[in-house]
Amino acid sequence: MAKYGVKAIFSDRHGGVSEGAYSSLNLGESVGDTNECVAQNLIRLCQSSDMPMPHQSQQVHGVQVLYCQGDGVRHSENADILIATNSGVALAVRTADCLPVVLVDIEAGVVAAVHAGWRGTAQNVVGVALDAMCSKGAYPAHILASFGPCIANCCFAVSAEVADILSQSCGVDVGVMQGGQVFADLAKANRHQLLARGVKHACIEISQPCTYCSVQPRYFSYRRDCGKTGRQLTMISLP
Ligand SMILES: [Zn+2]
Repeated sequence: MAKYGVKAIFSDRHGGVSEGAYSSLNLGESVGDTNECVAQNLIRLCQSSDMPMPHQSQQVHGVQVLYCQGDGVRHSENADILIATNSGVALAVRTADCLPVVLVDIEAGVVAAVHAGWRGTAQNVVGVALDAMCSKGAYPAHILASFGPCIANCCFAVSAEVADILSQSCGVDVGVMQGGQVFADLAKANRHQLLARGVKHACIEISQPCTYCSVQPRYFSYRRDCGKTGRQLTMISLP
């Protein structure tokens, strides 16, 4: 997206000051790490990416939209979709297996950051985000979408019921049976939800790494680490 002047980044777990299970670039508060470390990590990330302090919300696996302007703050409102129309405003969502999505319509000057876990995906959170962007002048065929690292279908074991819910939410089968276990493809579900809304196939960029089985490991993974882990941050800002 850089060639369009929009900046978007997906952090991994390296380069921060947190220790132990949160080592080292944990961007999630209230997950067991100290707020001082999280604050320092956020400053590091903003400085290294040359982006302003981002707006953040209380993420609750829903489809609420928060329209953001001015200096980035940590909002107390529940929202899994952040939208901005002003240049220099940065938006961020925190994840550790859920799918982070950034969306932009350059011509209309509208950006969004979306937190899409399986519950949000079941409610078509990217479709709701797209509708909200369109209410601000965006047009689906002009949207560029980028998906960050999430738990991929190699590792996302789900119940048959969850696989069905996800498949119904996007109109295609996103569950694969392997060794008697169903694995779901979150990114595929979100991609089809965007395609159904008129986003062009070629304008959806999908990051390959799986948070769960990334080597080193490169990412925090809620499932792999049994809940005791940090959060990655996904940020986007208009030029
Ligand atoms: Zn995997």
